Amino acid sequence: MTPKSVRTNQPYILRELIDQKLCLTNDGQLSLFFVGVGSAFSKRHYQTNLLIIKGDDHLMVDCGTRTPQALHELGTSVAQIQHYYVTHSHADHTGGLEEVMLVSRYATKVKPHIWITPAYQNTLWDLTLRGGSGFNESNGGANLSFADMWTVHPLRWLPNSPREAYEFEVGSLKLKVFRTKHIPGTAASWEDSFWSTGLVIDDRVFFSGDTRFDPALLEEFARDPSVEIIYHDCQFFPPGGVHASIDELKALPQALREKMLLVHYGDDWETQSAKVVELGFSGLARQWVYYDFPSPPKSSGSA
Ligand SMILES: [Zn+2]
Ligand SMILES: [Zn+2]
Repeated sequence: MTPKSVRTNQPYILRELIDQKLCLTNDGQLSLFFVGVGSAFSKRHYQTNLLIIKGDDHLMVDCGTRTPQALHELGTSVAQIQHYYVTHSHADHTGGLEEVMLVSRYATKVKPHIWITPAYQNTLWDLTLRGGSGFNESNGGANLSFADMWTVHPLRWLPNSPREAYEFEVGSLKLKVFRTKHIPGTAASWEDSFWSTGLVIDDRVFFSGDTRFDPALLEEFARDPSVEIIYHDCQFFPPGGVHASIDELKALPQALREKMLLVHYGDDWETQSAKVVELGFSGLARQWVYYDFPSPPKSSGSA
């Protein structure tokens, strides 16, 4: 069966799955694949977790509660995913990590790789992961550590960034990480917020991660002309939650809105999809389809 590719007037090409099977490699182009596009409590989509693929390289950005099930339905499993980045500690982004750790330690015996700061490593282990996976049945019951479960890779701090930011590489993939303003909803800035992050991928794609409306963030990391597409967190209900509301995002300049695909959305998306287009956004992000970004970019002369 030939994969169905849809050429659009966007910088990406949409490529459908073959036989509903997710493939962790491709021909070398940058591909983004949302395992889910839903909000934390979505029952009609999976959670907004993003798999990035380029040639033989891949990176799983977040692994929420429902992601192991989604991967199973896609013909694969967490055991096949070897490289992880975690944006923040909500369960729709971390709830599947216990399965990742236990399967790798006790079934496949292959330790997965994770890119993380030392401070967030301690927070993630102590407040989220240790309870279910820290006990060691061998070695006299001595507790395990995060490093027993993961091959840990550091991030490089970017000292001249307008806000706290880091970079790292996974093979040919180039990632930049920045802090976001997510929780609590009362925090005045990213500096007062709990650790939460978004990414710029290969200097071409901006992915907000979970964030409240933060025009400065877009000014700092999404304005560069090299950024072809913006995947942005969105809630359909009025401002006041811990995500960017569509009624706030609609105030952004047209040049940003037309590059913007909304993601992390609620189950009432069908009632909102016409409004999304009317307001000048590119649309709603789709799950279970590859967004292929050709090299070189289409805007640089490729067909
Ligand atoms: Zn979330
Ligand atoms: Zn969150």
